[in-house]
Amino acid sequence: MDYCPFCGAREVGRIGRERYYCRECCHEWTKGGGEVKIYEVMSDGSVEPLILDHESITHVITRPAVRRAG
Ligand SMILES: [Zn+2]
Repeated sequence: MDYCPFCGAREVGRIGRERYYCRECCHEWTKGGGEVKIYEVMSDGSVEPLILDHESITHVITRPAVRRAG
């Protein structure tokens, strides 16, 4: 996954084996076993899990892929 599942930005960095960070919206996410978990990064550097139901995550993930270049 090379784009943010939360906002769709491609300004993402890999910070762990299955852990990524988005500079656009300052969210982290993990992708293990096909399951995406999104975390909000607090101002003190801690992370809070973002509770999203599966349908809304799928919707967010699918949206950038639907857009066609040109
Ligand atoms: Zn993002």
